[in-house]
Amino acid sequence: MRAYRCPRCAALLDLARSRCPRCGAPVGFALPLGTVLDLETMGAGWMRCIGSGDAGCNWLVRSDDGPRCESCRLTRTVPSGRKPSDDAHLARTEGAKRRVIYQLHDLGLPVVDRVRDPERGLAFDLLSSRDGPVTIGHADGVITIDLAESDDAHRVMLQAQLDEPYRTVVGHIRHEIGHYYWMVLVDAGGHLDAFRARFGDERASYQDALQRHYREGAPAGWQASYVSAYATMHPWEDWAETFAHYLHIRDTLQTAAAWGISVAGPVGAVGPSTSVVPMDTLTDEDFGAVAEGWRRVSDALNALNRSMGHAEAYPFELPPPVIERLDLIHRLVLGARP
Ligand SMILES: [Zn+2]
Ligand SMILES: [Zn+2]
Ligand SMILES: [Zn+2]
Repeated sequence: MRAYRCPRCAALLDLARSRCPRCGAPVGFALPLGTVLDLETMGAGWMRCIGSGDAGCNWLVRSDDGPRCESCRLTRTVPSGRKPSDDAHLARTEGAKRRVIYQLHDLGLPVVDRVRDPERGLAFDLLSSRDGPVTIGHADGVITIDLAESDDAHRVMLQAQLDEPYRTVVGHIRHEIGHYYWMVLVDAGGHLDAFRARFGDERASYQDALQRHYREGAPAGWQASYVSAYATMHPWEDWAETFAHYLHIRDTLQTAAAWGISVAGPVGAVGPSTSVVPMDTLTDEDFGAVAEGWRRVSDALNALNRSMGHAEAYPFELPPPVIERLDLIHRLVLGARP
């Protein structure tokens, strides 16, 4: 994500803020402009999204295009009869969703809602497993997310039970949106042959693959070919996992670029000591070079996290077959830009 400043006092501003913590200016983010506006002095023609209530949304909409912003209008279902804790979970989940929608817009990926395409448009059902079982997933453009996943205690317990190295709400949304973009970029985009050459044949039975995965787990040595154990289950899951990593990498490199972070070390390292200088946008770079830069940046990020006693921010390795699959995703994303 890029870095933003208060338009009134130039204080650094977290993009989720509705008010500047330094000067108190009422601010909001206007996605079509890609900028933060001071509502008192620059707000003509703009108003707050109606999600500024329960969704905690600080995005602005054009007065003739409301009442919901580009992110809130994608939410199709929220639990009825919510408790205050559900509202807190909804606000956190919507915040993670806005981050992802921001990035999709920044990458130039098409986001077609259910109004424009009732059959395969994008929509989110944000349900609470407090009301009954919720299966996180994607079907024909509809993404289901469990609001309970924004409860840290619940999510960390699941992460430990499932022995996962990484589990976040942003990560869930990036994985499920990956399934949506398989439909858009690969299937509708006419790139099935390129997909099958890299990820395998998705016509293999998904049900059989699911049962095998939960009976036997990932095959031994999967780390040489896949980004995660779950990616071994079926070509669709490999795509969704790898697509999520593409978004992790692009967002984190963009943030590093916005802050002027480059990596030249570690001091005394053996080998060439060229600096890695992340870029906020990519054009037609070979993704192998991007992945090498990312490895150096993520090594530094992991070391910084360990200094604070936190788990590694990016506890993954990217073997060569995964980098080839990321390169295909990169080509398809670049090709989808308007
Ligand atoms: Zn300010
Ligand atoms: Zn909104
Ligand atoms: Zn999936």
